[in-house]
Amino acid sequence: MVESDTGDWKKQLSECYRSVADFPENFKLSPLEAKYFKTESDRFQISIPEYYFSLASTNDDDPIRRQFMPQSGEQITLSCETDDPLGETPHKVTQRLIHRYRDRALFLASDTCAMYCRHCFRRDYLSTNPSALNKKEIENAAKYIRDHLEIKELIISGGDPLILDDSIFENLLTVFRDYRPDIIFRVASRMPVVLPSRITNSLSRLLSRFKPLFIITQFNHPKELTISSRQALSRLVGNGIPVFNQSVLLNSVNDSVDILAELCQELLRASVKPYYLFQGDLAAGTSHMRVPIIRGFEIMKELRTKISGLAMPVYAVDLPGGGGKILLTESYIQKITDTEVIFKDPSGKEYSYPVETP
Ligand SMILES: *Cc1c(COP(=O)(O)O)cnc(C)c1O
Repeated sequence: MVESDTGDWKKQLSECYRSVADFPENFKLSPLEAKYFKTESDRFQISIPEYYFSLASTNDDDPIRRQFMPQSGEQITLSCETDDPLGETPHKVTQRLIHRYRDRALFLASDTCAMYCRHCFRRDYLSTNPSALNKKEIENAAKYIRDHLEIKELIISGGDPLILDDSIFENLLTVFRDYRPDIIFRVASRMPVVLPSRITNSLSRLLSRFKPLFIITQFNHPKELTISSRQALSRLVGNGIPVFNQSVLLNSVNDSVDILAELCQELLRASVKPYYLFQGDLAAGTSHMRVPIIRGFEIMKELRTKISGLAMPVYAVDLPGGGGKILLTESYIQKITDTEVIFKDPSGKEYSYPVETP
């Protein structure tokens, strides 16, 4: 099989569905969807690559369709929801750099995506900030990282950073490495899921020149693991780039033990390590996509009995009001005394482990 390794993805990007007229002729929007498309102002933009669109069935409840099609729930803002659910604004140290955790910083390399996920928590940023990345913004962030040696990892995110051309992306990595030769890169991109043709052999080779570099992607449902997306992953892995997955727990998409078990096992089969399963952030207009946190605990507890430790993601939430990321682990600890810690295993049976004093 001949693998195309040239500009195709750019054509596909330019042909994404962004308005009603772009959809295939035989495709019917539901009345609610049609209404949403008409409210032009004050809505989170739409973009759907034809490839990703083709994975969805015509069913309104389809787990793929729910991720790209706006629903009436987007018009609802709950009082617990905000435009900056992670409280990132106070941690912006340059125009595009967020320094929230001591040893990690996050660079917003792009303000656009191939696909706008309906559960996006940076929707406000993406709606209000679209502008092209400029040289000065890169330099300013690079200088900050040079002056803050406590930063060990740079997360390159956005938007989707891999929407940038290879040469621009290469320049970005080069500048950061020039200022900080020891920096570890993490590139957060949903391209392997929504536009796998973006992950060309040349991009994979380019990325492999900047090791240590990790790719963090976001598969949310086993239907997303297609032949094309598996090929994209194997190009990365084949070039020695470790790939991790961060899923978001989503209502009527993956809030089921069986679906998550299949997703995580299939990710491992593609040599991708399931890293986080995120509780939905309290972003305005996303309540219909969230799963109650208590349900999340139940799912995680049962998931652990079905899949291996390697396949298990860690359940986590970004606490509202800037509390940061915390792990949501159901505690097995029942009681701690001077002599023992008492645990309860998943079946409810109690065990004791001694507290040893040196
Ligand atoms: C999630 C996040 C990180 C990375 O957190 P890890 O737990 O190391 O994956 C870093 N910076 C910001 C602002 C984040 O939101």
